[in-house]
Amino acid sequence: MQLSPGRDGKLRCFGNEPGKEFYAAYHDKEWGKPVHDDIKLFEMLLLEGAQAGLSWETILRKRQGYREAFHGFDPRAVADMSDNELEMVGFNPEIVRNRLKIYSARSNAVAFIEIQNEFGSFDEYLWRFVDGRTIVNEWASFDQVPARSPESEALSKDLRKRGMKFVGPTIMYAFMQAVGMVDDHLTTCWVRVGGAELNAISQIELKGREVS
Ligand SMILES: [Zn+2]
Repeated sequence: MQLSPGRDGKLRCFGNEPGKEFYAAYHDKEWGKPVHDDIKLFEMLLLEGAQAGLSWETILRKRQGYREAFHGFDPRAVADMSDNELEMVGFNPEIVRNRLKIYSARSNAVAFIEIQNEFGSFDEYLWRFVDGRTIVNEWASFDQVPARSPESEALSKDLRKRGMKFVGPTIMYAFMQAVGMVDDHLTTCWVRVGGAELNAISQIELKGREVS
């Protein structure tokens, strides 16, 4: 499978379809970039948990709605949400209507704060699972990208032990990609190659190798 260029000529892992500029921007600026800010980490944790069973694109389109309903992704504010407030969130059309997912935002916030208290920050806790460094993979095709990894399994297991929900190993792998613990940009993606010219060269190389 080869990546096809977007309207700007750039090869992207995703987001190059017409009308998906927001998805291309997410791909270029966020996906695979290391995150060390706890609020941002909680945001991605909450959104990835909400995603379970849906497309990531669907969730990203709802991100602003989530930001408003869940207090700017401040874990302390989310931990303090009342049952009544969570029930109201369930009527918000911008939020995925799944009561278990909505309530897990609060219980996960409580567990998140406990981790912060134990390790100083969630960031400090989280990055230990990859020894503090991004795992940079070299995939030529999405067929090669795994759905989970030993690291995501270890993270999932530990978060579950700490009372978190919607943190299965597949969700955690997607989370690790999102916060840059894993960089799964394909080798031909412009983010990896770093320029349109080089991009064109690698495309020729790819053809030469007949990577399907
Ligand atoms: Zn990419």
